[in-house]
Formats: sequence, structure tokens, C-alpha cells
Amino acid sequence: THDIHIIGGGLAGSEAAWQLAQRGYRVRLSEMRGSGDTTPAHHTDGLAELVCSNSFRSDDDEKNAVGLLHHEMRRLDSLIMRAGETARVPAGSAMAVDRDAFSAEVERMLAAHPNVTIVRERIDQLPSEGPTIVATGPLTAQSLAQSIVAATGQDRLAFFDAIAPIVHRESIDMDICWIQSRWNKRNSASNEEGDYINCPMTKDEYLAFHQGLMDGEKTEFREWEKDTPYFEGCMPIEVMASRGVDTLRYGPMKPVGLDDPRTACPEFPQGRWPYAVVQLRQDNKLGTLWNMVGFQTKLKYGAQIELFRTIPGMQNAEFARLGGLHRNTFLNSPLVLDRQLRLRNAPHIRFAGQVTGCEGYVESAAIGLMSGLMAASELSGREWQGPPRTSAFGALLSHITADAEAETYQPMNVNFGLFPPLHDVKKKQRKEAYTSRAKSDFGAWMEETALVPA
Ligand code: FAD
Repeated sequence: THDIHIIGGGLAGSEAAWQLAQRGYRVRLSEMRGSGDTTPAHHTDGLAELVCSNSFRSDDDEKNAVGLLHHEMRRLDSLIMRAGETARVPAGSAMAVDRDAFSAEVERMLAAHPNVTIVRERIDQLPSEGPTIVATGPLTAQSLAQSIVAATGQDRLAFFDAIAPIVHRESIDMDICWIQSRWNKRNSASNEEGDYINCPMTKDEYLAFHQGLMDGEKTEFREWEKDTPYFEGCMPIEVMASRGVDTLRYGPMKPVGLDDPRTACPEFPQGRWPYAVVQLRQDNKLGTLWNMVGFQTKLKYGAQIELFRTIPGMQNAEFARLGGLHRNTFLNSPLVLDRQLRLRNAPHIRFAGQVTGCEGYVESAAIGLMSGLMAASELSGREWQGPPRTSAFGALLSHITADAEAETYQPMNVNFGLFPPLHDVKKKQRKEAYTSRAKSDFGAWMEETALVPA
């Protein structure tokens, strides 16, 4: 007998199990590895295996958003942070761990907990009743993925992320770019001038850019990713470029209907169409992040930064995330989950971890932690009061459950672009301002809601 069933013993599932068990709830934790099953990325049967790098990234909680998330997780007695500390290896201001020692410590802590039962089994169906947390990660087993699709609708679960780079709005040079929708047709009433930021290119600039796309170093698909189908709609920009020098000018870089106001002349009072454009579209409700439309790519990160900064107006671009194309199972969370990570049409089921559309070990564990707290609060009959929007937890949760644009929803790491903006603070001091506001609001929330570890 158990109070709650957690499916998936990765970063998120292990953390959720710990939070619930520590509060006195009996947890059944189902993990398919160890039962003869595995995923294409895992190598061991250990809980919370790190499938690639051994880094939890920056541990700087004053200037870095993921460091701030570490800080908030520690305050909530995170198992992942505890085990990370035990297994820590030197890595400067970053937090890196010995992956085997880390996984062993997570497993030891959970196995020793009187409220946790670890069962090595694959779950193929979403349970029809009983409190459940699904934390099966980016490589959720096929059978369960099908069951999720049946519950959410066909196009609500993605199997590939085709990510176009996302840029901090304040780093775009609006002396060069302008806002306008093609033919002045607007989709949203909120942006008076239009829905797109347009970066104009001359013929020479375009040809050089096209060459850069062709020459830039690309990453290869992993062996097991090659046969996962992706749609024409997510074709990498460089593949499109390789089809002909003008293909992009008839695709995502089409300039027609876009009048560059800086070329206005008596003959063209609104301005002329450039030779080609790069368009950016708002990516979050705060308006702080914009994505490069149609620019999903397998160019290496360094090559992306170098090439995309040659785009007029993007010479100082700061990227909230770079483009990519990977196999990744994730929900369109802003549409299908409520603010407590519950399936809107089956609220006994919560989701946690990367399958909700966050990205990264730390973020996945953090969302696992939150789902554990939410479930504990529900089991105790208390009303859930979420963390403040200004904290790292709050910013990440809001992105997943409410703020992101559902149409272009793609996995995202925590970053300051997800926080309510502090326009009045000088840019140099802004990072510290975000973290100090977060710490004070988060502390107040912990006191108010008595969210001290049980
Ligand atoms: P996971 O840690 O994958 O845990 C999910 C668990 O559920 C797994 O143990 C799986 O075996 C189990 N499971 C799946 N289906 C079922 C089922 N039906 N029944 C029972 N159990 C099931 N992030 C980084 O920060 N740094 C990196 O370097 C990094 N590299 C990555 C490389 C790859 C190839 C991939 C795919 C992802 C990478 N990530 C990386 C992203 C991501 O943060 C990690 O995948 C992270 O482990 C996600 O945590 P999770 O708990 O959501 O999922």
C-alpha cells in the first residue's frame, strides 16, 4: 500500500519521492531500468543517473539563475543537492559530481527511507486512479508515451525538440531592427506595432550568411536518433539552405511585405523591402525573450553564436538558449497542465521533470521537488500556495504552466529572461538585483507557508 505512485526514478522522480517521504507519505517508486528495460541514453540501473555531462552548472547564487535555483533547492532540503554535495568534485564555480557516487547516494538515501518502496517495473498505462506523479523523462518508454498521447491528444506530446535560438530582447539593436508584421497583418491585439522584430539584410550580407550556414560546423544525430522521424516543419535551417541559395528567401527569410523604415524615401514612404530578413517572435508573455523564427539548427553552439551575431541588429545578441534538434519527449505543458502540474482532464496525474518541458538535470530535479510539495499539500488537504513568481522556482514553474507561448513551446533552462523584468535597475547590477529580490521573496514564502522540511 502506498499514498502516491511515482513513475520514473530519474532526477525528478527521485527528488519528488524524497520530498513526499520526508513529509510522511508512503511512496511507490517505479523505475523500469533494472527490470530488463532501459533507455537509449542510460548506461546503468542506478536511480538519478546523469546521462551525459557530470555538471549541475554554475553554483553562483548571486549572478546566475541556475545557481539561484541550487540555493532555493538547498533551502527545501533537496535530495539531489544533498547527494550532489556528497559526490562533489572540484569544478571552480560550477558544481560537478562523480556520477557513480552521486547516483549511488540518491539510491542509498531512498532505499533506506522507511516510506519509500522502489519497484523495478515498467509502467505502460497512466493509472486510472490514485495520486500519481509521472517523471519518465525525455526518453519515456514508448508504451507509456502512447498512453499519455491518448490522454492529452495527438499533438500535445512532442518526440523531438526542434529548437530555434531564443534571444534576450534587450540585446537586440532596435536602431537597426524594427517591429512589424508582414503586410501589417497582426495576430495578436497586444502588440500595436506588429508581432515580429525584423532584422534586414542586404544582398551581400545574405550571401555571406548563406555561406556561413553551409560552412558552419554541425553536430551529428546520435545513432539512436536517426530513425526518429521529424517533420518538414522542423527541418534544420542549414538543410533548407543547402537546397539552393534562394530557398531561405522564399522560406523563413522571406522579405516581402516588410518595409524597413530606415530606407524610406519619397517613392517608398514606408520604406523598402530588404533583400532578406531574419524575424524574431515573442516567446514569453513577459516579452523578454524572442525566438528566431524557423532557425532550428544542428550547427554547433560556437558556430551559432558566431554566425547569428553577423545578422544586422544581432551583433550583441545574448542567447537564452541556442538552437538544437534532439529526441525529447515533452508535453505542451502550458496547454495540458494546470498551475499545479496536473493534467487538466485527469487531475490525479501530475507530471514532473523534463517531460514537462524544462531542460537540464537541475531544472528537472527542481520541478520534481515542486511536484512533490504540491502532491504533499494536496494529500494533507491544504491549499497549495506556489513559490513567488520572482524566485527561480516560481519563474521556471510559471514558464511551464502559464507564461510560455503554447504554439512555440520548447524546453528551456532556467534563465533571468523568465523572471519579471527589472528595467529600472542598471544592466550591470541587474543579475544581483534578480537574485536578491528572489532570495528575500523566497524566504518570506517559506516562512508564510511553513514549508520547512518535515
Ligand atoms: P530522467 O532522468 O531521464 O528519468 C526518467 C526515468 O524514468 C528514467 O530512469 C527512465 O528509465 C524511467 N522511465 C521511463 N519510462 C518509464 C516507464 N514507462 N516506466 C518506468 N520507468 C520509466 N541535462 C543536463 O543538465 N546536462 C546534460 O549534459 C544533459 N545531457 C543530456 C543528454 C541526453 C542524451 C538527453 C536525452 C538529455 C540530456 N539532458 C542533460 C537533459 C535532462 O535534463 C536529463 O535527461 C535529465 O535526466 C531529465 O531528468 P528527468 O528526471 O526528467 O528524466
